[in-house]
Amino acid sequence: MNSQEMYEKMKARLEKIVPDVELRYKAEIAVEINELKKQKNAVILGHNYMEPALFYSVPDFTGDSLDLSRKAAQTDKDIIVFCGVRFMAETAKILNPSKTVLLPAEKAGCSLAESITAEDVRALKAKFPGVPVVTYVNTYADVKAESDICCTSSNAAAVVESLHSDTVIFLPDEYLAKNVANETGKHIIFPTLAPQPPLPQAGEGVKGGEGQLDYQLIGWHGRCEVHEKFTVKDIEAVRAQFPDVVVLSHPECSPEVVAASNFSGSTNAMIRYVQQTKAPRYLVLTECAMGDNIAAANPEKDMLRLCMVRCPHMNTITMEETRDALKFNRYVIDVPEEIRVRAYRAVQRMLEIG
Ligand code: SF4
Repeated sequence: MNSQEMYEKMKARLEKIVPDVELRYKAEIAVEINELKKQKNAVILGHNYMEPALFYSVPDFTGDSLDLSRKAAQTDKDIIVFCGVRFMAETAKILNPSKTVLLPAEKAGCSLAESITAEDVRALKAKFPGVPVVTYVNTYADVKAESDICCTSSNAAAVVESLHSDTVIFLPDEYLAKNVANETGKHIIFPTLAPQPPLPQAGEGVKGGEGQLDYQLIGWHGRCEVHEKFTVKDIEAVRAQFPDVVVLSHPECSPEVVAASNFSGSTNAMIRYVQQTKAPRYLVLTECAMGDNIAAANPEKDMLRLCMVRCPHMNTITMEETRDALKFNRYVIDVPEEIRVRAYRAVQRMLEIG
C-alpha cells in the first residue's frame, strides 16, 4: 500500500477525529512502518489506548492486555513490537521468550505497576501465610513471579472465585480490588506492612478491620493515575447536560464512579457494549484515546469523553517511536529467566481461566 492509499484508508475511518494534515503525515510513517515490519518479520500489537492514527494503521492485532497476551504467545514472527506499556511488553516476553520484544518508548511505565515491588508481595505473604496471591497484569515481572495467578480487569472476579479460598490477596489496584469485592460480596481490608503482632487467621472470629477477622480480600493502595481522576460530579455534570447519556466506566475507577455508571467493564467489554446497544450517546470514562477509537468505529453514535487526562505512559508510544523501534531494534525487553519461569506460571494459569 502506498502512502496515498494508506491516507485514504485512514481518512475513511478517522476523518472526524484526526486533522487532515496529521493524517497525511502519519500515513507516510505508517507505510514506512509496514515496510520495516515486513523486512524484519515483525508483528505489531496495539493496545486499545493507542492514539487513533496508530491504532487504525499499523497493528496486526489490537485489543486489551488479555487479547494481546494471547497474540504474543501465539506469534511465530521474530520480533514483537508492543505498542502499549512496559508491563505488557514484559508479559509478551514472559509468554514467548525466544522472540525479540520491543517497546517503542523506553519510559512507558504505569502508576499501578510502579505502586508495588516484589519485596512488598513477599512481606504480605509473610504476614498472611498460605493466602493465595492474585496480581493484576498491570505489574512488573518480578511481582508476577511472586504471585499464584494473574488477572485482567475482564476476568478479575472469575480468577478470585476460581481459587475457592476463604481469603485472597489481590494486588495492587485499590479500586479494582474494591470493585471485585463488591461484585463477589467479599469484605476487603488494606493492611499496613509495619511490624505488628501476628494476625489471627481469617474466618475465625469477630468482625472488623485488619487485626480482626472478617475479611476475604486483602488489597493494596495502588491506583491508576488516569482512572482515579474521574468523579461522580463529572458524571452528574454530563448527565445534567445530556440526560440520555449512557455512562461506561472502567473498573480501575472508584467504586462510587462505577456505582453511578450504567455499565462498568474492561476496555473490550466497553467496546462490545457500545457496539451492541443502541443509545445515541455514551460517556466513556477511560483513557481518552480509547474514546476516540470507539468513536471512530461507531460514527453514528455520539461519544463523549473527558480528556483532561491522557495516560502519560501510553502517550509516549507514537508512530515515530514505533518506526524507530523497528529501525533501530529498540527498546529490547528482557526478563531474567528465573523470574520469567515463575511469572509464566501465574500468567499461564490466568490464560487457562480465560
Ligand atoms: S491508563 Fe492507568 S493502568 Fe493503564 S498504563 Fe496508564 S497509568 Fe497504567
